Amino acid sequence: MKISSKLPDVGVTIFTVMSKLSSDCNAINLSQGFPDFEVHPDLLSLVNKYMRSGHNQYAPMQGVPVLREKIAEKVFELYQARYDPDTEITVTSGATEALFAAISAVVQRGDEVIVLEPAFDSYVPAILLNGGVPVYVKYKFPEYHIDWNDVELALSSKTRLIILNSPNNPTGTLFSAQDIAALSNILRDTEVLVLSDEVYEHIIFDGLKHESMSCHPELAERSFVISSFGKTYHTTGWKIGYCLAPLPLSKEFQKVHQFLTFASNTPIQYAYAEFMENKEIYLNLFEFYQKKRDRFLNLIQPSAFKAMPCQGTYFQMLSYSEITDESDVEFAKRLTIEHGVAAIPPSVFYHDQNDNKVLRFCFAKKDETLERAAEKLCKI
Ligand code: PMP
Ligand code: GLN
Repeated sequence: MKISSKLPDVGVTIFTVMSKLSSDCNAINLSQGFPDFEVHPDLLSLVNKYMRSGHNQYAPMQGVPVLREKIAEKVFELYQARYDPDTEITVTSGATEALFAAISAVVQRGDEVIVLEPAFDSYVPAILLNGGVPVYVKYKFPEYHIDWNDVELALSSKTRLIILNSPNNPTGTLFSAQDIAALSNILRDTEVLVLSDEVYEHIIFDGLKHESMSCHPELAERSFVISSFGKTYHTTGWKIGYCLAPLPLSKEFQKVHQFLTFASNTPIQYAYAEFMENKEIYLNLFEFYQKKRDRFLNLIQPSAFKAMPCQGTYFQMLSYSEITDESDVEFAKRLTIEHGVAAIPPSVFYHDQNDNKVLRFCFAKKDETLERAAEKLCKI
C-alpha cells in the first residue's frame, strides 16, 4: 500500500535520535532536556495519596477544578492577570499537546504563521498538519535577539498567528520589556493571534524578569499562554501542562483538546494542585538552576568551547568554532561517539538547517554528571 505522507520532510525528532545514540554509546546525555535527579518526595507521596484514595478515573475535560484554581491564583500573583478557572484555563497532556491544540484551533488552510528560529521542533509540524504556511524570521546570531522590523516585514494579510518562546529553547535568551513594546506596536492594528510558549517561566537568571504575555493586557487578549509542570517540578515524564487564554480563544482551544486527549492524568493533577501550595518551590527554582548553570560554565571554562549568553532555561549554548568546522549535526554525533558527551545540534531548529557552529547542552543534571561531562569536554 502506498501512503502519501502528510509530513514528507519530517524524520524522527532530534531528541529521540540523540538520546538513543547517547544510550547506545553509553555517553553522558546532555542532549534531550530532562533532569537526571529525583522528584521531590512529597510530590511523589501526593501522587500516591491521590491514586490510593480513588482519584483514578477521567478528570473533567478542562482539568480538575482545584488545579485550575491554583493556576489562576499563581498567574494572578505573579503576572497580575486574571483568567477564569472555569472557562479560561485548560489542563493539557504536556505543553506539547497545548501547542498542538492551540495551533489546530486557529490555523486554517493557507493561513500564515510566523515562527521565530531557532524554534522548538513541534511547532512547524503542527502548522503543516493544519494546512498552515510557516513564515520564518531568524533570531540574530550571536546575541540571539529579534529584529522586530524583520517580524513586521513578515506580516501579511494572511498572517493568523505568531509563535513566541521566552525563555527560549534552545538559545537561552529572554524577551525584554522593549521586545514586548515592539511586538505590541506591530500587532496593534492586526488580527494576528499569539501563541506564547512559556514553559521555562520559572527558570530565569541574573535578576531578569519573565515577560509573560499574560502581563500585558493588549497582548493577553489575543494570546494563548502555555506552560508545563514538567519543567517546574522535574517531572518531564508526567506530561502535564496548561493553556491560559481569554474566553473566545479558550472555547476554540477546548473544542480541539476534548478530541485530542479529552482529559489528562487525574491523580497527578490533584497532586500538583496540593504541591503548588508551597510557592517557594517554583519561586526559588531559578536559584537552583542558576547554580547549575554557573557550575557548568565554571567547569568548561578551560575548554575550547565558548559559552553563549544564557539568561534562562536549562540549556547552555556552546560555540565550538575554535575546535572544528564540521557541521553541528556531524560534530554532535562525533562528540557522542568519540568523546562520550551528547548534545543537541541547533540547526535542526531551523527550516534551512542554519548552522552557527554551536551545540546545546542541558545542565538539568546532578553536579557529578556535569563534572564528568565537563572533564570530557575539556579534553577536546
Ligand atoms: N516547548 C518548549 C520550548 C520545550 O522546551 C518543551 C519541552 N520539551 C515543550 C514545549 C514541551 O513540554 P512538555 O514536555 O510539557 O510537552
Ligand atoms: N524539551 C526538551 C528539549 O528541548 C525535550 C522535548 C522532547 O523530547 N520532545 O530537549
